[in-house]
Amino acid sequence: MSTLITGARPYGEDAADILVEDGRIAAIGASLSVPGADVVDAAGLVALPGLVDLHTHLREPGREDAETVETGSRAAALGGYTAVHAMANTDPVADTAGVVEQVWRLGQEAGLVDVVPVGAVTVGLRGERLAELGAMADSAARVRVFSDDGHCVADPALMRRALEYVKALDGVVAQHAEEPRLTVGAQMHEGDRSARLGLTGWPAAAEEAIIARDVLLADHVGARLHVCHVSTAGSVEILRWAKSRGVQVTAEVTPHHLLLTDECAEGYDPVFKVNPPLRTDADVEALRAGLAEGVIDAVATDHAPHAVEDKETEWAHARPGMLGLEQALSVVVATMLETGRLDWRGVADRMSTRPAAIGRLDGRGLEAHGRPLAPGEPANLLLLDPGARAVVDPAALASRSRNSPYAGRELPGRVVATFLRGVPTVLDGKAQK
Ligand SMILES: [Zn+2]
Repeated sequence: MSTLITGARPYGEDAADILVEDGRIAAIGASLSVPGADVVDAAGLVALPGLVDLHTHLREPGREDAETVETGSRAAALGGYTAVHAMANTDPVADTAGVVEQVWRLGQEAGLVDVVPVGAVTVGLRGERLAELGAMADSAARVRVFSDDGHCVADPALMRRALEYVKALDGVVAQHAEEPRLTVGAQMHEGDRSARLGLTGWPAAAEEAIIARDVLLADHVGARLHVCHVSTAGSVEILRWAKSRGVQVTAEVTPHHLLLTDECAEGYDPVFKVNPPLRTDADVEALRAGLAEGVIDAVATDHAPHAVEDKETEWAHARPGMLGLEQALSVVVATMLETGRLDWRGVADRMSTRPAAIGRLDGRGLEAHGRPLAPGEPANLLLLDPGARAVVDPAALASRSRNSPYAGRELPGRVVATFLRGVPTVLDGKAQK
């Protein structure tokens, strides 16, 4: 089975044809011609490697009313993703080989992206004792990323032991950095605005204190640490310091923290309630600069679908979290590319290459992700119309939930097609199953 993608611009550069055969890129060049191949006209479209998300909540098992592996996979494919890491805070929690294998298998059955399960660090996300990290790593799901996301591994001795274990597994602890004693009842970023709005504040120091502690622990143990959804300027400074000392730390930023600020809380619309909270203009500036510089390695969505009854209620009672998969690339185009902070190769690096490397998905087999657009590599790629602009309509999203913070906002860049190992999962902007 052959597909010839004609006239695409790999990494936004000169137009070329891309020939896909048997799941791999067979050739990239001018005026390729292959009798019998399916032809996809990609004139004017930018070709990028398939995106890799380090941080997706698919809600299955347990909250299939909010999202399923299948609906979340479809949203991911429509956003240009070919692999997503599924967070462990499901019901039951993904803290055993059995649950991570179940999620992995559901992903294979949906067949729209590779669903890579994240294993919980502690049993039941309770922060008391370590989960079966080795059994999850050895399972069919081959877990390499471990996280209690939604909760911080707050106990420093337990965090140290987790780092020691994952080091032996070539894994990484992805920390949700939030000192719980500093965020009791927190509703939004702590500052002048939270005081004026009468909402309990979530201080930047609660995130920064944990990151500072954990980079010291990771350095001491010699293990890999990944920091989820970095949201403050101070966090970027700590990460820069740690990287300059050679600590094996990586970090991600979400699309919403690159675009939105705590000003969104003014209307008390809970669609803007998220953890960590939206911060200030100065934080957004530092996050964009940190991502451009590479201090922040990756964009990760923290796609967090919520059912209507959990979200459309008063602010204090609403669950934190927002959708992200279908608009992530557009937000990065708006905040990083159109502002001149990253070029297309930079976008590919932060949304595909580096997240795949952090998750250890970047091997040499056909199952690999985050590989360059080059002959011999797996044909995981997306085609984007960079000139298209559209207003986000939550009713049109593939996610089962509707809590998009971008509703009504015009964003640039439309994913026209996505290919997973040469098979189109999206064509003409429509999911193929
Ligand atoms: Zn989190």
